[in-house]
Amino acid sequence: MKINELKKDTPIFSLEIFPPKKTDGIDTIYNTLEQLKGVYPDFISVTFGAGGSVNNSTTVRIAHDIKTKYGIESVAHMPCIYLSKSDAAKMLDELKANGIENILALRGDLNPDIPAIGDFEYASDLVKFINVYGGFNVIGACYPETHLEASSSAEDIKNLKYKVDCGCNELISQLFFDNNFFYSFLEKCDIAGINVPVEAGIMPVTKKKQIERMTKMCGATLPDKFRKVLDRYEFNDDALRDAGIAYAIDQITDLIANGVSGIHLYTMNDPYVAGRIYEAVKNILKA
Ligand code: FAD
Repeated sequence: MKINELKKDTPIFSLEIFPPKKTDGIDTIYNTLEQLKGVYPDFISVTFGAGGSVNNSTTVRIAHDIKTKYGIESVAHMPCIYLSKSDAAKMLDELKANGIENILALRGDLNPDIPAIGDFEYASDLVKFINVYGGFNVIGACYPETHLEASSSAEDIKNLKYKVDCGCNELISQLFFDNNFFYSFLEKCDIAGINVPVEAGIMPVTKKKQIERMTKMCGATLPDKFRKVLDRYEFNDDALRDAGIAYAIDQITDLIANGVSGIHLYTMNDPYVAGRIYEAVKNILKA
């Protein structure tokens, strides 16, 4: 089923997972999925390494299994910067053959050591390509604190508007830790005439190193309140995990109270953390 055809009067609740490292073996993801099904997500999205080739079908295989083995709708991520048009067409054929109907169309992060192919410069080029191919619900990424490469927030919003107009039915946001960034971003979208649903990306932080890496990579601001928590509990794994879960629950509760379209939980393949968050917010999600 296409996610944009889901008829719900309560917020969407979705999860993101990544394929396991080759050394861990693909089977490890099935233990994770077995536990995540108890979290009753509306869909699970599966990431795809930007440098990955279309021969690496792990994302497609996992997205297919989420639908067929677990009965949960799936979304395949598709970064395009290192794809030729013919590789992209092959990947769409593969997704279609595997019954996948939803794609998160992405540019992918630039790797200075790998030259871009040049067939797709921006995610919007892929959005157009997929819509010409036909048959998929296309989702795009967005950045409440502005994409790191954009010269200004206004420029980023203008580019986002173009991407949506190329045929994105919804957006999923980059992670953020201060909901005010998200609310102000939604206002800017509204003014720019971006009217599609925007799911809020929430990442429960359970390790200090993880958060330092993530904030550097995506530029998310760490509010003082949260930094204090990280500093205080950095050497106590259990306390830091509990504090990270509590912070995510607080963010989600506030977002839902403010009428957000959906919550997209970056699970980091940790079903225990996702389960605890779901238990805490399930009644709020359904209210
Ligand atoms: P775009 O929408 O193309 O934007 C990239 C930059 O170009 C922005 O600064 C934008 O303002 C600018 N821009 C866009 N269009 C134009 C234009 N027409 N003219 C001039 N400038 C323009 N990466 C992966 O490799 N694999 C994944 O699975 C993955 N999953 C993700 C999931 C989510 C929810 C998010 C938020 C990100 C994910 N990423 C993933 C990371 C993403 O690939 C990077 O953030 C990447 O740097 C930008 O991708 P994009 O699709 O947003 O790019």
